[in-house]
Amino acid sequence: MALLDRTSTLGPVRDKVEAGERLDLEDGLTILESDDLLEIGELADLARRLRGGNDEVSFVQNLYLSQTNVCRVKCKFCAFAATQKQEHAYSTTTEELVRDAVAQHRLASFTEIHMVNGENPHIDLDFYLDTLRALKAELPDVHLKCYTASEVHHMTTLSGLTHEEVLVELKAAGLDSLPGGGAEIFADRVRALVAPGKEHADIWFHVHDTAHRMGLRSTCTMLYGHVETYEERIDHLIRLREQQDRTGGFVAFIPLAFHPENTVFERRGFRHSTGSEDLKMMAVSRLMLDNIPNIKAYWIMMGMPLSAVGLHFGANDVQGTVMRETIFHAAGAQTETEQKIDQLVRFVREAGRIPVQRDSLHNTIQVWDAA
Ligand code: SF4
Repeated sequence: MALLDRTSTLGPVRDKVEAGERLDLEDGLTILESDDLLEIGELADLARRLRGGNDEVSFVQNLYLSQTNVCRVKCKFCAFAATQKQEHAYSTTTEELVRDAVAQHRLASFTEIHMVNGENPHIDLDFYLDTLRALKAELPDVHLKCYTASEVHHMTTLSGLTHEEVLVELKAAGLDSLPGGGAEIFADRVRALVAPGKEHADIWFHVHDTAHRMGLRSTCTMLYGHVETYEERIDHLIRLREQQDRTGGFVAFIPLAFHPENTVFERRGFRHSTGSEDLKMMAVSRLMLDNIPNIKAYWIMMGMPLSAVGLHFGANDVQGTVMRETIFHAAGAQTETEQKIDQLVRFVREAGRIPVQRDSLHNTIQVWDAA
């Protein structure tokens, strides 16, 4: 019978996972080209468990801030940026931003501020340093995860300093870690098409490499689902894995699906990636990134129902309460902008896992019962 004769193309990948061997480019392509979604999920979950994962699923209580959306770069996938003259452009003063953050903290006691901005050419390095100092002074126990590698590079052009010099200043002002944005897809061909004004991928890596060697930790990302090929996605993951071999400073990886609304790609007929594509990306990320301990199912981007499935496709973290996300919502994300802790606990429990509130470096703050 045809059904009994069926041979999975994933067999050689499974053999490598079970043997603890590193997967290569061909293995990654085999996974993405397979239609056997359930086996892919099962393989990713197996890899996660064989590498020490358990039933715990973590989240952080965090506030998202963006001090300015003015940006010189004009990435074609971006619905967030504005020019200085546009009506929706904003640049918030340090005083306003800190007052707002302190008020939010009274309401929600978040442990992390996640802040990213446009690359605003009308400000200087002090804009960032003053903000970090003021936030740290008012909220000394809150972890400041601020500024993508692209922004750090932008600060070098504003100040004439090197990456290391800028990072030393930011760290002294209160920076605790870097978020992983700005990675997009590393392949030159893709960057030239979707973000021609953005720095070369080598610069993104140099910023993270420098930060890691200074003791700062960071996350890393990939924005997929636009013009990239499967080869370019796997190449991206392998480059991150190689960097992690060198410095070990990535605490987590977040696959980010492209949202075309309000971008030039919407007019060209681009659509969201499908749920099965998102789940495959989750799984292949876990399978390829054997040296990055945490893979996030970012519910703001995927929605809660698909994120719950993602926990069975290699993810072990759902990011966090994410108060006030603006960037994916500018591009049409329909999710709520805040999930309170009791909602996340219920969500994790209903996925059959153990909820764990963590800090920004993935240390445990609180563990709940499984049900
Ligand atoms: S993605 Fe970032 S760098 Fe690119 S246009 Fe948007 S805000 Fe600017």
